[in-house]
Formats: sequence, structure tokens, C-alpha cells
Amino acid sequence: MNLFSYLFFALLCGSVILQYILIKRHKHHVSSHREKIPEQFKDKISIEEHHKAADYTCAKSKLAIFELFFAAVLLLIWTLGGGLDYLDKLWRSASLEEIWTGVGFMLSVILISSILDIPSSIYRTFNLEERFGFNKTTAKTFITDMIKNFILMLLIGVPMLALVLWLMTNAGEFWWLYVWATWLTFSLFMMWFYPAFIAPLFNKFRALDDDVLKERIVNLLERNGFASQGIFVMDGSSRSTHGNAYFTGMGGNKRIVFFDTLIDELSHEEIEAVLAHELGHFKCNHIKKRIAVMSAVFLAGFWVLGWVIDKQWFYSGLGVDNPSTYMALTLFMMVIPVFTFFLQPVFSYYSRQHEFEADDFAAAQAKASDLIHALVKLYRENANTLTPDPLYSAFHDSHPPAPIRIAHLADKTV
Ligand SMILES: [Zn+2]
Repeated sequence: MNLFSYLFFALLCGSVILQYILIKRHKHHVSSHREKIPEQFKDKISIEEHHKAADYTCAKSKLAIFELFFAAVLLLIWTLGGGLDYLDKLWRSASLEEIWTGVGFMLSVILISSILDIPSSIYRTFNLEERFGFNKTTAKTFITDMIKNFILMLLIGVPMLALVLWLMTNAGEFWWLYVWATWLTFSLFMMWFYPAFIAPLFNKFRALDDDVLKERIVNLLERNGFASQGIFVMDGSSRSTHGNAYFTGMGGNKRIVFFDTLIDELSHEEIEAVLAHELGHFKCNHIKKRIAVMSAVFLAGFWVLGWVIDKQWFYSGLGVDNPSTYMALTLFMMVIPVFTFFLQPVFSYYSRQHEFEADDFAAAQAKASDLIHALVKLYRENANTLTPDPLYSAFHDSHPPAPIRIAHLADKTV
């Protein structure tokens, strides 16, 4: 234990306590508004639906509290508790080349962490989501998803990890710059690669076959000069009744994906409005801005990693005896959220501003009233709370709270 250990421990406790208070506040705020539907939703949502959203939010909050403490304890066991150090010594005793020791070590950390997450994931899917009627995942889908993810990690993760560790050892003083460039290239590549080649491994995509709706959408896209590779309907209903729509891909591989659950639920006008919102994110350059911000954040991150990598206090402060490139990378990825956690409200705020801009775009391209109807249906079908705690929401929510978002759109209807 050194000064850095105490700093890490204090920040971890601080972030856990703060998150605990926020979740508790949120839960309390939602339950105390359980009996009263907010004025603007009175004629749109029944009291039963409002109750369900409150109960669902409280149930999710309970699980979030458990996961919060579980993750914190696990992080302490890995670091100050000597878990990583023990695993490192095991792999070192195998006397492999350093890169393969590193790959093996990091893979086993990822594998052990994933296995420890399984019970909570089973509970979420087969108890929590099931109780509120959202779950459609079968045990078979759950297991095959897990196996597919594992194989993908081996096929894509291992070569990537080996390359990064090789660069860290062999690329000289500015290795962190090369690692950053590799990470950026890989992320951009995956944005292009994922929708066309990986997503279909998990879900079925079919071209939208409703011609009337299709014409509407193509019209919207054309008047905005947007070229896409197609409009797809995804069988989201094979896992959950939660509905969504999204734009994905980049370059010549852009596509629009609707969950089948959404197509069934919304009218054509509403679908157009939702799509106009998503298009707004593209038109206002939100995707590019987000990539730029993430790039800057990661560049700073890799620079810091380059700075701590040869500092003994970094390793011994986090419960590790032997410094190595792979250990630096592992420790860094594990503890960095503790140090950046307090930036979360800034990122959330930034994201909510983008949502308002996309809503403004949608209001100009389609009808704001249609988007309002669509959102209300989505809040209702997904049992999203209409009464989040303001502080919790400011900290965590990437989208504006329902009443504020609807009020903002309602201003555009006149
Ligand atoms: Zn959005």
C-alpha cells in the first residue's frame, strides 16, 4: 500500500457512495410519484402503465445497487486483494514469451470477469425482464449468444491484443501514439464491419417489405441527401419486447435498422418522425463529433498510460509486484473508470444536447406531434419512467427526461 493505493481506494469509495445515493434518490423519487401521472401524460398513459414503469424502475434500481457493490468488491479483490498479482505469477511460471504471457493473462482476466457476471445477467434476463413481460430470450439463445461472443473475442480480440502488446514493447518511446492510432483504426473499421458482418450472427435482418412505408422513408432520406445501404427490420423480438430504431455503419455501409417490435407498434407517420430524429444525429454531425471527442479522450488516456507504465508506485499501489506492459494495460483499463467517473455528468449533458438538436431536426423534417406520439408509445412499451430523479438523470441519462423532452417538442408543434 502506498499513497496511490489510498487515493485509488478513496476515489472508489467516493464514487460508490455517490452512485449509491443517486440510485437511492432515483428509486425514492420514482416511488413517491407512483400514484400521480405527470400532467402532460394524463391522457396518454394509464395509471396501470404508470405503475408498471415505477415498479420496473425500482426493480432495476435494486439490481443496479447489487451490481454496483459487486463490481467494487471485485475490483478491490483484483487489485489490492492481490488477484491480478496471483494470476500474473501463474502465467509467468509457464515461461512463455512475454507477449503470449500477456495475451494469456489478459484473456483469463476477461474470462473470469465474464463468468462472474453471468449470474447477474441470468437474473436480469430470466427474472427481472421476465417478471415485467419483456423477456423473449430462451435459455438456448442465451447460451449460444455467450458462445458466439466468446468465439468472436478469440477471433478478433486475441490478434488485436497481441498487436497492442507488441507495439507497447517494440514501437519505441512514442508507442502510446501508435497504440492510439491502432485503436482508432480498429474502432472505425468495426463501425463499418459490425453491422454487415457481426450483427447478423446474432439477429436476422430482412429488407423492409412495406412499400408504402419504404417510399415515405426513401423520400425523407432523399430530401436530406442521405445515401444508405438499405432499410432493415431486425428480429429484436427474438430476445425482448423492448423496441428501438437506429442508424448504423459508416461510409458506404450505412444502414437503417428497425426492431420488428417498433414497426408493429408505430404508425407510418411516427416511424418517419423517429427516423428523422436518427437522421438528425447524422445531419448535425453528432457521430463525427462523438468520434472526435472519444479520440481525444483516448489519446489522453494512452498518454497517461505511457506515463505510468514505468512507475513502480502504479503497480505496487494497486497490489502488483512485477511491472509489465500487459499488467499496466490491464490495471489501467480496470481502474481508469474510478478516476474518470466524475466526468460522467459532462458526457451525459453533451449527449442530451445532441438529443435536443436531433429532435429539432425531426420537428423540421417531420411533424413534432408524430415524434411526441412515437416517444410516448416507446416510453409506455418500454416502461420507462416519466418521473426520474433530476439529479440521477443529470448524472446518468444520455437522453433528456421524458417530460422535458416532450415539452421541448411540444414547443415546436405551434
Ligand atoms: Zn437520439
